[in-house]
Amino acid sequence: MTGNDSARLLLRAGRVVTPEGERPAAVAVEDGRVTGVLPHDAPAPPGARVVDYGDAALLPGLVDTHVHVNDPGRTAWEGFATATRAAAAGGITTLLDMPLNSVPPTTTPANLEIKRDVARPQVHTDTGFWGGAVPANAGGLRALHDAGVFGFKCFLSPSGVEEFPELDADGLAAALAELAAFDGLLIVHAEDPGQLAAAPPADGSPRYADFLASRPERAETEAIALLLRLARETGVRVHVLHLSAAGALPLIAAARAEGVRVTAETCPHFLTLTAEEVPDGATEFKCCPPIREAANQDLLWRGLAEGVIDCVVSDHSPCTADLKVPDFGAAWGGIASLQLGLPAVWTAARARGHGLADVARWMATSPARLAGLARKGAIAPGMDADFAVLDPEASFTVDPAALHHRNPVTAYAGRTLRGVVRATWLRGRLIAADGRALERAGTLLRPERTPAAGLARSAPEERTPA
Ligand SMILES: [Zn+2]
Repeated sequence: MTGNDSARLLLRAGRVVTPEGERPAAVAVEDGRVTGVLPHDAPAPPGARVVDYGDAALLPGLVDTHVHVNDPGRTAWEGFATATRAAAAGGITTLLDMPLNSVPPTTTPANLEIKRDVARPQVHTDTGFWGGAVPANAGGLRALHDAGVFGFKCFLSPSGVEEFPELDADGLAAALAELAAFDGLLIVHAEDPGQLAAAPPADGSPRYADFLASRPERAETEAIALLLRLARETGVRVHVLHLSAAGALPLIAAARAEGVRVTAETCPHFLTLTAEEVPDGATEFKCCPPIREAANQDLLWRGLAEGVIDCVVSDHSPCTADLKVPDFGAAWGGIASLQLGLPAVWTAARARGHGLADVARWMATSPARLAGLARKGAIAPGMDADFAVLDPEASFTVDPAALHHRNPVTAYAGRTLRGVVRATWLRGRLIAADGRALERAGTLLRPERTPAAGLARSAPEERTPA
């Protein structure tokens, strides 16, 4: 279609998920923004294209703030075209790229520009960038912030790639002191290196139990305790990435109750897969921190239900199949799931009595808020017309070869999931339908900051020609 065809649009669906809940409605769109959430039988505005999705659900387009695109530098693992096609097919309309695993990493303004130049002609979804806080750029975070990253990621233990070293406790304190000057956000891979070093290594082992023992829960809880203490002292906003250890939930809840500015995310694999079911040698299930036992998973769900965990995001971190050797010590750690997050989470959420409004809050609204994306993550007047159309009762069996991410490896292979993404709309344009990516309409995002607040709305940096 041409640009004009998307200027006026009316989408009808039996289950439209808005901040007020779920109801039959018609969503009016003009020039890429939602203009109204109307009664289901509302007449179409003159000249509007009307699409009726029947009984299906219309969710806000998902916002995935944790994606490793690896482009440039490790494009055999993934790339912007493949990752954003997978995202679009899976109902994601906005993704934020992690600063590591690409070469160069996003640790300087010049490197950010390299990443932007590579991404710009490729993106099917709106795309923004996290920066990295590493020892080499200490003192340079302000410049990277001003160049347009949404916040800073750091590791407290080795990241797995040599060009992105971790911060020690002094380095973490220094980064927080720097961020305090401009109200920056620090997002943290929280595993304590001392606890990891003290645990028995999994080198050479095909047994998942050995891998789990090598990444103990106390490595997470200890690192998170340190982070919370420093966040309390500095007043800096911090975010716990990919929380796996439910033992950290009381620490986070207590800190928040005291006024510490902390949020947390978990991932579809921690909510839907369990240590007990990982077969020997199945390193497509390896990630750090690890998938833990079913009892831990129950507590993560409780943390979500109680609001201690804010976001559910993919941590899509793929690699080539040859790096998933059947040795839990040597295999690359990372789970590829970008296209599957919504059905995976919905399948489990539904079984636990949660509704689509919960899923939309965890996977769209809260991640948008984390990143300060004021026009993303909800269906409401004034918001970007970003939608995921989900058939919540249909099911499918995961065939890795049918997914769009670059390497056909995923921990979800062969699983039957409920919830089929029928279509994805980005700013009023149809970018995917029935698993196929269509118009490439993504733009690069940068935070739009008001001088007073230090963080605020986001704005498209530029339009990418389709
Ligand atoms: Zn990650």
